[in-house]
Amino acid sequence: MVSDGGQPATVVPDLGWPERRRDDVPRGTSPIGWPAGIDPTGRMPAVDPPAPPAGLTLPAPDRTRVVAVTNQKGGVGKTTTAVNVAAALAQGGRRVLVVDLDPQGNASTALSIEHAEGTPGVYEVIVGGAAISDVVRASPEIEGLSVVPASIDLAGAEVDLVSLVARESRLNRALTAYLAEQEDSDQRVDYVFVDCPPSLGLLTVNALVAGKEILIPIQCEYYALEGVGQLLRTVDMVRTHLNPDLRVSTIVLTMHDARTRLSSGVADEVRAHFPDQVLRTAIPRSVRISEAPSYGQTVMTYDASSSGALSYLEVAREMAARGVTAGGTP
Ligand code: ATP
Ligand code: MG
Repeated sequence: MVSDGGQPATVVPDLGWPERRRDDVPRGTSPIGWPAGIDPTGRMPAVDPPAPPAGLTLPAPDRTRVVAVTNQKGGVGKTTTAVNVAAALAQGGRRVLVVDLDPQGNASTALSIEHAEGTPGVYEVIVGGAAISDVVRASPEIEGLSVVPASIDLAGAEVDLVSLVARESRLNRALTAYLAEQEDSDQRVDYVFVDCPPSLGLLTVNALVAGKEILIPIQCEYYALEGVGQLLRTVDMVRTHLNPDLRVSTIVLTMHDARTRLSSGVADEVRAHFPDQVLRTAIPRSVRISEAPSYGQTVMTYDASSSGALSYLEVAREMAARGVTAGGTP
């Protein structure tokens, strides 16, 4: 168990003070009505942040890495991690596909991809048998990044899938065909990130069958490891019956708050359990990260110089490096 010096676990509320800098204000116009340059929190007037490191190139993996981002615990940073690592890798010159496999459509929102009810997306692929090339959309913000959107229609998929043939491997089939097609036309996709819903139902199983790697975001809060045992048992089951190559390659600590002993305690405990999988970089709790989706952006474009963006860039670097060195993941 995580110890907090014998005291009951308390979480210090995020006051946002480490984030208050002169350049730490939003650009652009919020979809909920804040005019450009006006900071809705009443802070300093807008000043464009410094540009991200120019010309940064991240190494390409030997072959496409398909990564299921999963944790059945809700709100731990699955979507935030999927979209920001995907964005950082694409900014680093890689071709990246994000598959939004959550009826909430949060990854589609963060990447500014239309996903209103009725929009063709991942439901049509896994239930309707459509090709990914028919529904994939390019990110309007980031070159090299594309998205298979999810609309609320996907909420019915868990039920609709039950009666279908090969119900666990429908995403895998569609993805394999799409990746082969892209490779044949010299457009090889380097990374696919599948953003899973907070459950271990058939949608998540489809992601675990389609991917070789699993990325588990773990929030640096009390109860962080609760449920991870159940997730690992599901992974074992899928490995035994459906996907022998599947492995938990990466664990990312999220919402880390260096000011609390609780956060550090959880981080230490997770590192002790999974010494080879936990990345060195932990993602800090950051107001900029949580603001970005309301502007239809990742933090990588919303505020490239913020601590959140720099941390996700580091995570992308670590993942890319692990994929090309001995003991790497793919
Ligand atoms: P769900 O289980 O509902 O799919 P999730 O695991 O995908 O959730 P996110 O949606 O990524 O989790 O994050 C949950 C909430 O926490 C969001 O409001 C997000 O903006 C916020 N959040 C995520 N990471 C951070 C962070 N490092 N700092 C501050 N807020 C964060
Ligand atoms: Mg999510």
